[in-house]
Amino acid sequence: MADREEQRMIVEIISVGTEILLGNIVNTNAAYLAEKFAGIGLSCYYHDVVGDNEERLTGVLKTALARADVLLLSGGLGPTQDDLTKETAAGVLGRKLYLHEPAKEALTAFFKKRGMEITDNNWKQAMVPEGSIVVENPNGTAPGIIIEDNGKHIILMPGPPNELVPMFEDSVMPYLNSLQPGIIYSQTVKICGIGESKAEAMVEDLINAQDNPTIATYAKTGEVHLRVTARADDEKEAKKLIKPYIKELKGRFGNHIYTTQEEVTLEKAVVDLLLANHLTVSTVESCTGGMLAARLINVPGVSDVFKTGYITYSNKSKRKILGVKKSTLEKHGAVSEGVAKEMVKGAALFTKADVAVAVTGIAGPDGGSEEKPVGLVYIACNVCGRIDIKECRFSGNRMKVRESSVSAALSLMRESILAYYSEVTFGAKKS
Ligand code: ATP
Ligand code: MG
Repeated sequence: MADREEQRMIVEIISVGTEILLGNIVNTNAAYLAEKFAGIGLSCYYHDVVGDNEERLTGVLKTALARADVLLLSGGLGPTQDDLTKETAAGVLGRKLYLHEPAKEALTAFFKKRGMEITDNNWKQAMVPEGSIVVENPNGTAPGIIIEDNGKHIILMPGPPNELVPMFEDSVMPYLNSLQPGIIYSQTVKICGIGESKAEAMVEDLINAQDNPTIATYAKTGEVHLRVTARADDEKEAKKLIKPYIKELKGRFGNHIYTTQEEVTLEKAVVDLLLANHLTVSTVESCTGGMLAARLINVPGVSDVFKTGYITYSNKSKRKILGVKKSTLEKHGAVSEGVAKEMVKGAALFTKADVAVAVTGIAGPDGGSEEKPVGLVYIACNVCGRIDIKECRFSGNRMKVRESSVSAALSLMRESILAYYSEVTFGAKKS
């Protein structure tokens, strides 16, 4: 096993830009690239961030060359004086720059198409190090550059994410794949209703013993994705390697797995479940202010199941629209199990939906107390009269609490529908 692990190519991300160093921009490029590595069988041990400074970038490049096989650089390929990534990399590798004619033509065409004048410093972007592979950039002016040097691969990409992402997908990823034998194939198992650390603990033994395939966990808001990736001679062989792992994960996570298909989102899984069971749905939201309805309505085909979405933000609207009792509001407060229950009952009664879901919580930053802190959210789900209520305690800012609430509501809807049918099947709840 160790031998295989040692055979994996090691990649290092170098993000260039003083703006990143100072915290003026968030390093989304590094996060994006790092998430891709498990899927193409690369190991990453270091991310570097370095300012637009030739001396320090030289140092970082030398260090990275000593410990990685692939260096992925982003940023500093622009036309201005402080864009010095290419010049510095060429310097470290002892290569001269020359004017690359096709890059010059692409640059000319880019400006012409937009009716813009080329300034003299723009030609700098068509200069490339000797012996490099020039990668097209249809979304910007700086081409990407790949330099192969002494068994190492140094890859330069522009900083703007709308240029880097398509360049990585279309050109760099296939290049990285071609460096390794066979093909890479992965399958994602998506889980809800289990927290990240618990999910990780449940697969720790598999991760520690992993070889081929590998398993990586990705925490999303209210969900965890497990990606199983195999390298093999062909797709058939890779699928064969992956299959027993998927089976094992299904055994461990059971109903918490909402899909094993890459393109299926949690909201789509919920809508599919409603469609399959011919159930209609209505939502009533307080702190999420329509975000739950919006996520459901994002799914094509939802019109066959979605009835009504209310935003009952004030106490008055909870009373008037949903019939929540004044006494319940006064006794327990708007953020309480009792109010969530009456909200969902009212929604089911007035909209006649088979499934009703209610969210009420404290999104912050104000409004919290010791007893009811910011992040306290109650979610209720009513499936044909069977009501589940969940108390959640989320952390993070207002937006994060609201997003977490929506994911938890979707997750509870799934659980409640499945529970309803398992009880119906056993005769306990038949109506
Ligand atoms: P340009 O031609 O636009 O100057 P460049 O390749 O020189 O591109 P930078 O000057 O380093 O790239 O960055 C340009 C912009 O790209 C930044 O202002 C920022 O918006 C975005 N950007 C750069 N690096 C990153 C990064 N690591 N993560 C996210 N965005 C980035
Ligand atoms: Mg720049």
